[in-house]
Amino acid sequence: MSFLLAWTHRFAELGPDFHTELSPTPLPDPHWVGQSPAVARELGIDETWLRSDEALQAFTGNAVLPGMRPLASVYSGHQFGHWAGQLGDGRAILLGELAGPHGPLEVQLKGAGLTPYSRMGDGRAVLRSSIREFLCSEAMHALGIPTSRALCVSGSPGRVRREEIETAAVVTRVAPSFIRFGHFEHFSHSGQHDQLRTLADFVIDHFYPACREAPGNPYAALLEAVSARTAAMVAQWQAVGFCHGVMNTDNMSILGLTIDYGPFQFLDAFNPAHVCNHSDTGARYAYNRQPNIAYWNLFALGQALLPLMDEQQQALDALEPYKALMPAALQQRMNAKLGLSDSKDGDAELTDNLMKLMAADAVDFTIFWRRLSHAGSGDLEPVRDLFLQRDAFDAWAVQWQERLQAQPGFDATATQAQMLRTNPHVVLRNHLGEVAIQRAKQGDFSEVARLQSAIERPFEALAGQEDLAAFPPDWASQIEISCSS
Ligand code: AMP
Ligand code: MG
Repeated sequence: MSFLLAWTHRFAELGPDFHTELSPTPLPDPHWVGQSPAVARELGIDETWLRSDEALQAFTGNAVLPGMRPLASVYSGHQFGHWAGQLGDGRAILLGELAGPHGPLEVQLKGAGLTPYSRMGDGRAVLRSSIREFLCSEAMHALGIPTSRALCVSGSPGRVRREEIETAAVVTRVAPSFIRFGHFEHFSHSGQHDQLRTLADFVIDHFYPACREAPGNPYAALLEAVSARTAAMVAQWQAVGFCHGVMNTDNMSILGLTIDYGPFQFLDAFNPAHVCNHSDTGARYAYNRQPNIAYWNLFALGQALLPLMDEQQQALDALEPYKALMPAALQQRMNAKLGLSDSKDGDAELTDNLMKLMAADAVDFTIFWRRLSHAGSGDLEPVRDLFLQRDAFDAWAVQWQERLQAQPGFDATATQAQMLRTNPHVVLRNHLGEVAIQRAKQGDFSEVARLQSAIERPFEALAGQEDLAAFPPDWASQIEISCSS
């Protein structure tokens, strides 16, 4: 069976200053680990064909299909606060774009072999991190959080050396563009200002056309628009308890998408200073630092765009709105989680007081919000049970209920329904991924599939999935996830 796809190549057409064309490196005896029919539909890919051997070979890098134009792109970046110089797609290979019902999407293989940008790496990805990226991409999308998507994961008996010997896998990622802040930093810091302008024009023309019409400098308008999207994305991370883990500028999407899933984590017990990345010894990317780190990264992007502006002040002015936008977007999300349909003075205090109580008692983040959703204006006992300081919680709950009920036209049933659509029942907790990974290592992919179907409908409490919404087991806090992937 053959299925002809209409590949296009807008990024490739930027020319060789931006990338190196090359072929993926074949991986022996590949097998399927998981697939997303929803992403296939976004790409106009036939679902039956996606299950074929031809698709397996193509999305493992063993076959280059007619119309594909594989390439690795060059970028640079700041890693853990330090300028790292040239990085680039060291193991990601862009195949081209496919147009689905919502426009063209880039399709990229991660782990498909060496590129000129692999530096000390082997160009490969291991099964565990590929499963995590596949599941989390789809989990974030289902939560309504801007993200790259994942079409499929394939595994192979091919061996890869990390701390121990593991097996190789390839995850096929999908996004309108994989351009990062680091792409701009690359051309700026190396003095390639014509290429910097070409790249900025490409991004404006295809993704931010309104910046061309904006008053003043179009590149300052781009910086402001990217800041607004980044603020919206990070506010959503905070509201769902998501830690990215490696917010280096080369992992920041110019489209404000969550990309490069590595040592990410959804919080279990609420700890605002939680660090999910075992390699992050300085706690740079702790949960509560993410909004400021995003600003730091936007500042680095602004610095990179300076050669396209008339004066530094244009960049500073473009960055300024983030400082108000980010907290406002977060408060709006928190109000929705609390069942509030409007905003009032005092909401920030109500939220802060709650977060302090949750932190003091290490309350499970996801379970708290779900139980609070069910409590509506009625039975608070299951929520109260989560706290050690019950009097303090009771005092907070009185304030919350007064605030809820004072809303014009308050309707307890509608509020409960809205909260249940806002506060997820199931998130991709580390230990859930870990169980699916351990089974997959034994050749059993059924837990990957079961988890996938649950995280694709995170707001529904489905029968047979109770364990996925339960408290984490004790061993969950012992899981150590590092940059090694
Ligand atoms: P990451 O920490 O995964 O965002 O990767 C940072 C940089 O290291 C990027 O340029 C990656 O392409 C590169 N990299 C990470 N792992 C590998 C690997 N196994 N082989 C080649 N390059 C890699
Ligand atoms: Mg990266």
